[in-house]
Amino acid sequence: SQCVSIFRVKIDNLTMSEAVNGLIHQTKNGHACAHYAFVNTDCLNIAYNNKTYRETLNHCQQVFADGSGIRLASKLLQFTLKDNVNGTDMLPLLCEQAAKEQLGIYLLGAKPQVAEQAANNLQKRFQGLTISGTHDGYFDPSHSEQLMTQINDSGAHILLVALGAPLQEAWIAKHQAQLKVKVAVGVGGLFDFYAN
Ligand code: UDP
Repeated sequence: SQCVSIFRVKIDNLTMSEAVNGLIHQTKNGHACAHYAFVNTDCLNIAYNNKTYRETLNHCQQVFADGSGIRLASKLLQFTLKDNVNGTDMLPLLCEQAAKEQLGIYLLGAKPQVAEQAANNLQKRFQGLTISGTHDGYFDPSHSEQLMTQINDSGAHILLVALGAPLQEAWIAKHQAQLKVKVAVGVGGLFDFYAN
């Protein structure tokens, strides 16, 4: 897809449905784990000073334009983005498709109990949705290998990682090659929102 580059971060110009359909298509047809990210203006500020994070974003399969600040920044560069592609609006659409296609979602991140609560709420709301597993986001890095085994054994197809930026992007990039999920997405504070 077409991209706009802001502070040397490439952001894809997609509608929300193009973004969701792309994720589902990748999940069903991908051969390896593809990394996706949402970028808002806070993320751009971090990326400006953090080369590793910036490069990780630029290696993502797609980077979604999250929030009106990104839209405004694009406008200043004479580029009109099609849509505000944020996690809060995307999750219900993703869950609906995942339920229909029988694709399992694993929730990794946030404080203890939050991912479980979000999982309960989502499973109540979306008939037939499989949440393959959950884990909080306050684990020691030495636990990552064991955690990956758990995620792989869960049979999940989609992994949502809510550790905040840039930690979630670093975690996905580091473990992408060993993950069996077809899609891994950094989602920031999303589980906190859906746990309520
Ligand atoms: N978080 C985590 N582990 C950490 C640090 C943060 O799981 O070591 C979680 C935190 O509980 C919250 C999310 O990551 O659910 C970060 O949310 P925030 O809105 O601050 O991130 P952003 O959306 O700005 O990236």
